[in-house]
Amino acid sequence: HIYLDNAATTPMAPEVIATMTDQMQNDFGNASSTHYFGQQAHRVLDESRHTLAQNIHAKKDDEIIFTSGATESNNTVIMQTAKKRQSLGKHIITTAIEHHSVMKPLEYLETQGFRVTYLPVDENGLISLDDFQEALDDETILVAIMMGNNEVGSHMPIHEIGEILKDHQAWFLTDATQAFGELEIDVQKDHIDFLSASAHKINGPKGIGILYVRDGLYLDSFIRGGEQEKKRRAGTENIPEIAGFAKAVTLLTPEKKAAERDRFAGFKRQIVDGLRANGIDFEVNGSLAPDTLGHVFNLWIKGISTYVLQMNLDLAGFAISGGSACTAGDLEPSHVLIAMYGQDSPRIKESIRISFGTYTTSDDIDQFVAALTKIVQRIQAKQQREKE
Ligand code: PMP
Repeated sequence: HIYLDNAATTPMAPEVIATMTDQMQNDFGNASSTHYFGQQAHRVLDESRHTLAQNIHAKKDDEIIFTSGATESNNTVIMQTAKKRQSLGKHIITTAIEHHSVMKPLEYLETQGFRVTYLPVDENGLISLDDFQEALDDETILVAIMMGNNEVGSHMPIHEIGEILKDHQAWFLTDATQAFGELEIDVQKDHIDFLSASAHKINGPKGIGILYVRDGLYLDSFIRGGEQEKKRRAGTENIPEIAGFAKAVTLLTPEKKAAERDRFAGFKRQIVDGLRANGIDFEVNGSLAPDTLGHVFNLWIKGISTYVLQMNLDLAGFAISGGSACTAGDLEPSHVLIAMYGQDSPRIKESIRISFGTYTTSDDIDQFVAALTKIVQRIQAKQQREKE
């Protein structure tokens, strides 16, 4: 089987597994304990926090809170900002193509009297800064705009948004879950107040993530109990996972990220050229611009349903996705493709997402192109027979 669904999750790097195994076997202490074992665990916690803080150019290590993942981070910011700042206004701005871990809490807030603006996107999956400026008003308390999209890879103008918000009361949350492994992130330069990410998208373990909280901003936690994470998130710290996350981050040097982006761009060309040479009728959903996230690729295979494509590729040994993994189980068309192309576009029912990772090879891509070609030709021949 060939795995081409790295936007859903990635396999863990052997180095990460080794680090975590070592932690579980040797440094099992509770980081809050004052004895030797506790101190060992606390040292790992501090070092890991430092690694994460440096990676996104945070000013202080304490600006990083370890959470169970981006879902918890996004929920925390949205729900707690609403609770804390509602006296300043009840308006929140987001985009039409956020992940459900942003969408769902916002939809809930709408039932509680909050006003949410969902900025539209163009065919490249990008918002317009004019629309954003227009939506921003005196009652806006939060702006939640993702850094990179998980279905089509669009890369939002985060720096420009941060600049605009610098002198506005609204707090700025960016979901960097997909961008984290590819882009150089600088929370200070981009004036980001809150940032979410998950380890399992960068060859780290599942169930661990971060929430960056700009120094000076305070949020209540949902999770009350012990005084861990400076009272911002109670519960014994999950040191093996935290250490695994930090290890995954250290493997992703800026040079490695740049090289991977080049390699992934090459894979996209390989697929486009391969399918074209084989006479397949398809279009790219979103953009092939260099600024797009390299690992996410979305294709419209004209005339064949997402479900049929996905099932046949699975049978042929290729793991791809019909959209985001969270919605892949149901047959709801992707809200991202609908926002980009409209409810009536055939694309929303005939598209697949292919996503690359560290262990994807050019040979995998050749095999994928050959398999997809065969499937499309077989189904088209069947459709033709049925017509006659
Ligand atoms: N945001 C984005 C953009 C994502 O792609 C994902 C994972 N699909 C999440 C948030 C949620 O991450 P997790 O499931 O690790 O909480």
